[in-house]
Amino acid sequence: MSVQEQHLSTLVAEQRRPGFSRLRFTRFVEEQFRTHYGEINHPKVRLLLVLAACGICLSTGYALALSNVSMVTAIFDIVVMLPLLTATFLASFQLERHRLYQPLLAVSMLCIGLIVTSVALRASLHGTPYYFAAIVAWVFTIWLSVGLLFGYAAVTAITISLAYGFGLVYWNFGHQESLFAGAMLIGVNALGALCCFQLEATTRAAYRDKRILEDLAERDGLTGLYNRRAYDGYMERIWRQSRREESQLTVMLIDIDHFKTYNDLYGHQAGDDALKRVAAVIAMGAQRPLDLAARFGGEEFALVLYGQANDFGRNLPDHIRQRVVELGIPHAESSTGPVLTVSIGVSIVTPGAERSLAGAVQMADEALYQAKEEGRNRVVVNESRLTHIQTGRFRAYRKRAV
Ligand code: GH3
Ligand code: MG
Ligand code: MG
Repeated sequence: MSVQEQHLSTLVAEQRRPGFSRLRFTRFVEEQFRTHYGEINHPKVRLLLVLAACGICLSTGYALALSNVSMVTAIFDIVVMLPLLTATFLASFQLERHRLYQPLLAVSMLCIGLIVTSVALRASLHGTPYYFAAIVAWVFTIWLSVGLLFGYAAVTAITISLAYGFGLVYWNFGHQESLFAGAMLIGVNALGALCCFQLEATTRAAYRDKRILEDLAERDGLTGLYNRRAYDGYMERIWRQSRREESQLTVMLIDIDHFKTYNDLYGHQAGDDALKRVAAVIAMGAQRPLDLAARFGGEEFALVLYGQANDFGRNLPDHIRQRVVELGIPHAESSTGPVLTVSIGVSIVTPGAERSLAGAVQMADEALYQAKEEGRNRVVVNESRLTHIQTGRFRAYRKRAV
């Protein structure tokens, strides 16, 4: 299975797991999905929160003006509800804070639901049972309209329904009314749960498909490694991150030796097969989540490792070189040896004010030039902060060699 297929099958497998666990990706994808889910739902939730806050202000103000408000209700509205709605509103603007947002939204919806429950029960006690319709509407809203994930929606809607049921029993409502309300709430919750589950599962499937398409657009069709476009975007991001975290970056540029003569001798198809096998060796080097293996184009590859250059990172280039030799791909016309080999230029840099991204790549390019000059099938590492950089030496060298 190619690297590309492996990656895609992980995403596809995400949704194939049975039961309720289908509503969850693995950790890294789940985080990104929740941010995406927030982007879809936040605008309408904000409107709802503003309306709820206005409703609370108006009803409390009206009741205070008429002096017929209970102090407990007024204090609850002002001290609990308004800050809670404001906090949820503000959290909706911080997409990466979804861990905070979903519980806050659930508690807000629960509190509003409990207020509606208390109003409906009191109205029913005073002979106007049709306020019960508000509970039904609110339970549906929670299941379907506010973008709560299934688990949060379930806890919130069921708690409100149970609170209403508790009120019916506590105040000894008539048998018929209790039976009707109980059956209605069970039906509404069952229907709401089914629709909510399907809605979330569909949204997740659509997200997974979108990710697979994006992934395909970033991959090189032949080798399954990331393509040049993905590499450029990744380098910009990872460079900024290393600067922020004062972390090291190891940039390896890998070029197959005498590949033109290999193609001329064995044909283009054999060349493609060799490229795939070398690419698979390079892909093994990108083991941590922030590492990246890319095909630069032609028979050139880049492998970037994020983080302090430890023993693994330092030994990796030579290990890759060795593994390519061990592939044993015959190359009868190579002046370097009997099999296909690679040359690797490495730069180890700590991004800082005095160092640019282009400079770091150039250092690796310089090292690759040196490896080619010194006879190929070797690794040259450029680590010095003071390395003098002659822009485009390897590229200039290649032009001469053609
Ligand atoms: P050096 O050791 O100096 O790197 O020499 P080289 O022959 O490897 O370098 P050069 O850049 O002259 O040749 C690269 C060759 O790679 C040219 C082309 O035939 C081959 N190549 C580029 N892309 C592909 C591809 O997708 N498939 C195949 N089969 N060959 C490719
Ligand atoms: Mg080459
Ligand atoms: Mg080349």
